[in-house]
Amino acid sequence: MLIVLLGPPGSGKGTQAEKITSEFDLAYISTGDILRSAVKDNNELGRKARQYMDQGQLVPDDLVVDIVKVRLMDAEGKKGALFDGFPRTVEQAVFLEKALPELKVTLNMVFSIEVDESELIKRLTGRRVCSVCGASYHLKFKPPKVRNVCDQCGGDLYQRDDDSLETVQERLEVYKKQTEPLIDFYQERGLLSPIDGNQDIDGVYKQISSVLGEL
Ligand code: ADP
Ligand code: ADP
Ligand code: ZN
Repeated sequence: MLIVLLGPPGSGKGTQAEKITSEFDLAYISTGDILRSAVKDNNELGRKARQYMDQGQLVPDDLVVDIVKVRLMDAEGKKGALFDGFPRTVEQAVFLEKALPELKVTLNMVFSIEVDESELIKRLTGRRVCSVCGASYHLKFKPPKVRNVCDQCGGDLYQRDDDSLETVQERLEVYKKQTEPLIDFYQERGLLSPIDGNQDIDGVYKQISSVLGEL
């Protein structure tokens, strides 16, 4: 079983993924988290990816596809996997479609989380992320119990470099041009489940989990 979370930056993919994977037995695969950790380690992948990420651009497809192949093979043992932030281009979606039979995985559902642009900007500029486990918080909408400390693991919270207003605007443009076409791609394949992401965190989760419970 494979589930994809599709949506613009700030739509709540990471936040929902945390809730979904704690309730359903799915391996969590976030290409953004994997790339950020490569940048932090300053390994070969990180050195290649950094310049794109800092500018709010997508990392080249071949780098991302390699990451996903490895992670999917590691995910054996779980009931399936949850993708957050992959695929993000039509090329990546086509790669995935071709790779699935070989990996003996079925793509069951693509949740398209839709949120108004003004709300996205508020969410991204107020986002804080755990430096240890990657959990997402928000200064107003989801503050941690103790200021700047992760509820889950006690790690320090930080603001991502690409969550500055300027880079956020660039990322939203990149989303429209390169990722939004995936909505039609998956609609045509009968795999799309649109979700109203303007609701509060629990409201969004209710909508997603009721669909997941039926699968
Ligand atoms: P957000 O959840 O805010 O949209 P992510 O953490 O998913 O951000 O991604 C951060 C950055 O990592 C992106 O701006 C892009 O540079 C890179 N990235 C993540 N996933 C992909 C992908 N599937 N293809 C290309 N680049 C990616
Ligand atoms: P994405 O992974 O899609 O980029 P995140 O899950 O990191 O998005 O959420 C972006 C920001 O918005 C975070 O600060 C998060 O706490 C907050 N957030 C997520 N979902 C909601 C929601 N439904 N209402 C208000 N704030 C939210
Ligand atoms: Zn943490």
